[in-house]
Amino acid sequence: MIHFEQVSKRYLGGHEALKSLTFNMAPGEMAFLTGHSGAGKSTLLKMIALIEKPSSGHIRIAGQILNRMSRRQIPFFRRQIGLVFQNHNLLMDRSVYDNVALPLLIEGESPREIGRRVRAALDKVGLLEREAYLPIMLSGGEQQRVGIARAVVTKPKLLLADEPTGNLDPKLSREVMNLFADFNRVGTTVLIASHDLGLIARMPFRVMTLKNGELVRGADGGERGPN
Ligand code: ADP
Ligand code: ADP
Repeated sequence: MIHFEQVSKRYLGGHEALKSLTFNMAPGEMAFLTGHSGAGKSTLLKMIALIEKPSSGHIRIAGQILNRMSRRQIPFFRRQIGLVFQNHNLLMDRSVYDNVALPLLIEGESPREIGRRVRAALDKVGLLEREAYLPIMLSGGEQQRVGIARAVVTKPKLLLADEPTGNLDPKLSREVMNLFADFNRVGTTVLIASHDLGLIARMPFRVMTLKNGELVRGADGGERGPN
């Protein structure tokens, strides 16, 4: 699903944020990406979603070679990827329902199909009864779950999350991570950047560690967390 071959990234005027990264993730796999702040985690996720381009090397995602993708193909490519952020980027003046419906509206789905899929996504994250609420009326954990529902409503093959539990207490963090594991169990490939080493250690997934832009652990896929 994800193939990086000697991928490097140097930002304009900056130093090398990623240094010759080579790794693979199989379809249906779930993994964590960890490392100190500034290690390159966000940069790596952004390159998978084509938000940033590599300075050198090759990236293949779901069979598509990113280096060869034209500008016109990028929006279609991005629809295969669900993105979850720490600050969830919800529209605060729109209902929970409208927030989750947004990606489907952009895809031009019919109102009937949108209704069906939004409610299915809200049901999966346990927020069906909150569809008419504004995000401000929800707890931090609930808001993050709305962000996850919005990321999965298009049924992406690949789910990427950047510090999805950064603002949550330990119990809510566990719930959110378990939710990702649920989506993984039904076949979604999941890659989560996280600082939360304690939480990661308790989950049975591969851990990749970045240090100053180099992958120092977990590149080969055979490696698992301490459990
Ligand atoms: P900042 O200074 O921006 O807060 P730090 O680099 O100090 O960021 O790290 C923030 C968090 O990341 C801390 O909780 C720390 O324990 C954790 N952390 C630090 N180094 C690593 C590492 N190599 N891998 C994973 N987590 C780390
Ligand atoms: P992490 O997510 O692990 O905290 P990042 O991927 O955000 O790390 O950053 C990796 C390195 O790239 C850092 O040194 C950071 O300052 C630098 N960086 C990130 N984004 C930019 C940018 N848009 N322009 C220049 N440098 C950047």
